Amino acid sequence: MAVMQTSSPKRVAILGSTGSVGVNTLNVIRQHPEKFKVVSLSCGSSLALFKKQIEEFSPLFVSVATAELAFNLKSSLSRDQNVRIYFGVDGHQKCIEESTPDILMSSMTGTFGLKASLQGVVQGVSILGIANKEILVMAGSFIIEALEKSPTELIPVDSEHSAIFQALMGNKKSAVKSIILTGSGGPFRLRDAKTFDSIKKEEALKHPNWSMGAKITIDSSTMMNKGLEFIEAVRLFGLPAEKIKIVIHPESLVHSLVEYCDGSIMAQLGLSDMRIPIALALSYPDRISLDLGKSLNLVEAGALHFEEPDFEKFPCLGLALKAEAMGRQGSIILNSANEVAVERFLKDEITYLEIPSLVEDALVSYKSARVNSLDEVIDLDIEVKSWSKNWSFVRPRYRREGSFHERVSV
Ligand code: MG
Repeated sequence: MAVMQTSSPKRVAILGSTGSVGVNTLNVIRQHPEKFKVVSLSCGSSLALFKKQIEEFSPLFVSVATAELAFNLKSSLSRDQNVRIYFGVDGHQKCIEESTPDILMSSMTGTFGLKASLQGVVQGVSILGIANKEILVMAGSFIIEALEKSPTELIPVDSEHSAIFQALMGNKKSAVKSIILTGSGGPFRLRDAKTFDSIKKEEALKHPNWSMGAKITIDSSTMMNKGLEFIEAVRLFGLPAEKIKIVIHPESLVHSLVEYCDGSIMAQLGLSDMRIPIALALSYPDRISLDLGKSLNLVEAGALHFEEPDFEKFPCLGLALKAEAMGRQGSIILNSANEVAVERFLKDEITYLEIPSLVEDALVSYKSARVNSLDEVIDLDIEVKSWSKNWSFVRPRYRREGSFHERVSV
């Protein structure tokens, strides 16, 4: 006898549905059509894919970046497609407000999805899955504050933070000795630092283990991604920065670990597949089955390696740690400057080694900025970005006189 499905499907909204996490979220939902109903989709400008997603999942509300894109989308969809189309930052927010999701997957890059994500918390969605680390890095304290007044549960979707979240399950935070954040080390882990001057974007865009969007792939190569994840971990788990350690693990199978006061270390292992942390966010506190096409074979994996990160070779990592220590403004400046630096590197406007130079100069220039509200976060983001767009390099390479601490004097 067939078992009747008694619970109604969970209503899901995705901010950033055409990005890598968005596409993977829809892939997981496609595997469990009885469990989930897509009620809202938002994207930036990838209209062709967005149109296909709308036709397949029939959301009631969608949003795109601009009025022009909204118009183009409307004219390309069939009249039978019953969907309301919004645009811009307010449009993304309106989608969340009107579609009343149970689960909100926040995976829109940059700060575009910030207001809409907060909207989800304010209206009390059951689960906010955060894959967009910039949101936590820039406005984490405001989001955590809003979460305290809301029934919403935040589930991290970044693989490392999902691993930490899982390794913390069933344990008291007071028993945690340290969090060990792992990173693959990126494509240049073994490359001679003397040749970093000549790194081209094509080389930086090749990640050894993960297939992701361009911005995060460059960030992985400079190790800024690990720096942002360090800040993300501080925000998410409410532990002092000195309790969070970074360890390089080239195989990317151990996604992070938690060390307890009794000497036990809990780890989460899995394939490098974003669908695993996504599925946990969608199904929490339960788990759902996933067809990944293969499973992790530890015998085939053979050996797992761990090593110290190289702060000299990857100055972005040290910049992130120092930015976090500067106070709330530090991580905003770091993130905004880095976003522009990567964009300019991809346009061949600056060299690979100029990425950390630009970020460091931004941190020095804006060290005394103060941010006390979400609007001030957005203002500082805009200001640092426009400064970074005009930044030009005055010294031949990433080598400075005096330590960063002397220059920033925090
Ligand atoms: Mg990650």
